[in-house]
Amino acid sequence: MSSNHELFQRALTLMPGGVNSPVRAFKSVGGEPFFTERADGPYLWDVEGKRYIDLIGSWGPMIVGHNHPSVRGAVEKAIGKGLSFGTPCPAEITMAETISKLVPSIEVSRMVNSGTEATMSAIRLARGFTGRSRIVKFEGCYHGHADAFLVKAGSGALTFGAPNSPGVPTALADLTLTLPFNDFDAATHLFDELGSDIAGLIVEPVPGNMNCIPPRDGYLQHLRDLCSRHGALLIFDEVMTGFRVALGGAQAHYGVTPDLTTLGKIIGGGMPVGAYGGRRDIMNQIAPAGPIYQAGTLSGNPVAMAAGLAMLELIQAPGFHAELSRRTQLLTDGLQALADGAGIAFSTTRVGAMFGLFFTAQKVETYAQATASDLARFNRFFTAMLERGVYLAPSAYEAGFLSMAHDEAVIAEILRAARDSFELLASA
Ligand code: PMP
Repeated sequence: MSSNHELFQRALTLMPGGVNSPVRAFKSVGGEPFFTERADGPYLWDVEGKRYIDLIGSWGPMIVGHNHPSVRGAVEKAIGKGLSFGTPCPAEITMAETISKLVPSIEVSRMVNSGTEATMSAIRLARGFTGRSRIVKFEGCYHGHADAFLVKAGSGALTFGAPNSPGVPTALADLTLTLPFNDFDAATHLFDELGSDIAGLIVEPVPGNMNCIPPRDGYLQHLRDLCSRHGALLIFDEVMTGFRVALGGAQAHYGVTPDLTTLGKIIGGGMPVGAYGGRRDIMNQIAPAGPIYQAGTLSGNPVAMAAGLAMLELIQAPGFHAELSRRTQLLTDGLQALADGAGIAFSTTRVGAMFGLFFTAQKVETYAQATASDLARFNRFFTAMLERGVYLAPSAYEAGFLSMAHDEAVIAEILRAARDSFELLASA
């Protein structure tokens, strides 16, 4: 059996940076990634047999824990009937019904294969429906890797987008306007100036791609009002928050209704799935009901639908989200107390079962505050936790995720590792 190091050396010669998705490479935290052999409940095991408590859960979808017998059983049953049909299948209808039941603003939905496809399709729809070209996103929000989203803010709220990835044509990036999240006035001014050109505003209602930053009171409603007033569509990217911060997602948690919603991760139960949906009159502009084109050979795949439906069944158990939130709070409160005890400047955020850890004493509410936290300290903490068998996201700009398999004993084990790690930081 090859070691992690040997595998990474081989991978480096075969894949860009040795990985198929950038953050996995541990580039920002230093060191080399481990290669997972198997996963079960709250744990990952690497190829060398080392066990890690997993605080990412495949970046969100493993909300009932890895390898849950119900999800695995549903997949095994579906596989017995074939892997892909290329025709409609009944599970797609059950999935669409389940999504509409849990997220009522989604009257009509379309399945795709990833979060990127969902967001990319949603903005095409917003543009096609409104006949406008510009879209608005927030600095520090990530909506997948489609060209329109690889744009971050320059200084000031009304800055036109500039590509921050080579390969994104400036002409396209210029159509993406960026705003600072949680700034009420910046959004008002942008819409006052350019509102009649804006097709849609896309937002992670709880941004989880600049660490985890809850919206200020009334902020999402403010965005709703601006979009309504200026005839732009409000798109909630609930790829992370969907079915996690509450059963009905962030829109249920905050009581704000978007026109369109994008979903991913959890609805596939670990299989590659995404979806977008929303108001019937808007969604019916999508082909073949309407003229806006979007398609997918593997979309609505029967095995992926089976996994997702089994997962959605489990999370509808009474009290599921309340319990997961309670455990997440146990973890964030425990970490805060340990950091305070060790004299480390530290703060946490939490919405439902999504959390953020910041090496700063400040309460973090903005991208500027998140990026001003002590990244070197986060990196040392990440490494110390990893050595003690706890796997945090390998970047200071990612949210953390707990699953229902993380019981109090597992949380206590995480806190024991954190006590040592904070003390190590304090003595450095
Ligand atoms: N939207 C959000 C909010 C995300 O967090 C992500 C991925 N982390 C995406 C979209 C893109 O999803 P995918 O990686 O499945 O393309």
